[in-house]
Amino acid sequence: MHRNRKAKIVATVGPASTDGATLEAMFRAGADVFRLNFSHGTHEDHRKRYDILRGLESSLGRPIGILMDLQGPKLRIGTFADGSVGLETGASFRLDLDADRPGDRHRVALPHPEIFAALETHTRLLLDDGRIELRVESFSAGHADTTVINGGVLSDRKGVNVPGVVLPLSALTDKDRKDLAFGLGLGVDWVALSFVQRVEDIHEVRALAGGRAGIVAKLEKPAAINELEAIVQASDAIMVARGDLGVELPAEQVPAIQKRIVRVCRRLGKPVIVATQMLESMVGAPVPTRAEASDVATAIYDGVDAVMLSAESASGKYPLEAVTMMNRIIVQTEADPYYAESIKANASPPQAEIEDAIGLAMRSAADLLNVAATAAYTTSGHSALRIARERPRASLIGMTPSLATARRLALAWGVHAVLVHTVESVPEMTEFACATALREGLAKPGQTIVIAAGMPFGAAGNTNLLHIARLGQEGRSRT
Ligand code: PGA
Ligand code: MN
Repeated sequence: MHRNRKAKIVATVGPASTDGATLEAMFRAGADVFRLNFSHGTHEDHRKRYDILRGLESSLGRPIGILMDLQGPKLRIGTFADGSVGLETGASFRLDLDADRPGDRHRVALPHPEIFAALETHTRLLLDDGRIELRVESFSAGHADTTVINGGVLSDRKGVNVPGVVLPLSALTDKDRKDLAFGLGLGVDWVALSFVQRVEDIHEVRALAGGRAGIVAKLEKPAAINELEAIVQASDAIMVARGDLGVELPAEQVPAIQKRIVRVCRRLGKPVIVATQMLESMVGAPVPTRAEASDVATAIYDGVDAVMLSAESASGKYPLEAVTMMNRIIVQTEADPYYAESIKANASPPQAEIEDAIGLAMRSAADLLNVAATAAYTTSGHSALRIARERPRASLIGMTPSLATARRLALAWGVHAVLVHTVESVPEMTEFACATALREGLAKPGQTIVIAAGMPFGAAGNTNLLHIARLGQEGRSRT
């Protein structure tokens, strides 16, 4: 079972996608990585979803990436007695610290004393990704009386942004530390850190993760954009978290910043995910708007590693349709003859490293010979990522003896990860790569593949070998 596309799909799991049948259908429809959003749900909810996904992984025989997303110092209101209220523009609305009392049309809890401490008269508060705006009229250490500037329906636990006000918060809250320990205990492959502001935030979570998971920095604060290069360098992958980014910054600045982040990630060879509102209208409708389809396609033309579904797959009415639609948009976009040109136009030259020399040679050989597939023996996943950085046209099989690596590579552009045993010699490697390409349906007898590996076999960080082989009649190598 392989995907007929390069870019990957990250699907957020939530109440709309918790049962085994839905998760399996979503995987089959194209979800490569599942995101457990620790802003919502209990540890038991996440454990249940995690177990279902790992069960699917073994029954379907394909590695599945699982990404845990830490809430970070995201500010949220409490809950309402009826789940939501309609706020009229011009009305008064109070925020307070009374987290135990369900909200109504007059008030709701905002259980963050830091906000009240940082308020000033006429501070703007943006709720639900900026859909609702409140203006502070008066406040104390425990409440704020506001006027509704932009009204709308406000529901349980929606986010609050205070643009322009620096809140004294660290990137990991106590909740994040507990969630992280829990997620690492489960065995998640990726940990996404929200509201990253500094490189040190990444170092902190990396130290806690201790190599058990890759670190994804979510870029959603203006401060992080000022340190973009260093943060990308320090991270294993990046998420363009356009929801909060577009609230913290004017919406018109988001497209250029998105493209800048993608360029830096592609240059440094770090997987990059474009996230939030990609098919937003599919939360309530079985088809997206044309503008949403275009937004997904734009990211694909830029060569991103993955596009993400949030509420569309977690709490919307059409989780499966959203994955199916995203898959179709990606496949269609990648089939455009202009796609390869566009990918190339956005590429930056390889770096003076052995892996890049191998990656470059591999892509040249693959293009010149028009091979069916390329294969990389990769222990840590690094060499597969450096080859993917070249965005080769042929399929790329990431052959790895490490289950953790296979799962992490689910996020990477174009990599079809396959779990293999360690090989001992070049003939064995060749045989095995040919057989794998055949079995996975990525090459046919008589076709050629290009294989990258490192000798001695099985050690990380020693890619130094490029081998070209032709599949014989039974898929056995002839060269
Ligand atoms: P969130 O992050 O969904 O956890 O808020 C993504 C974003 O802000 O875009
Ligand atoms: Mn966010």
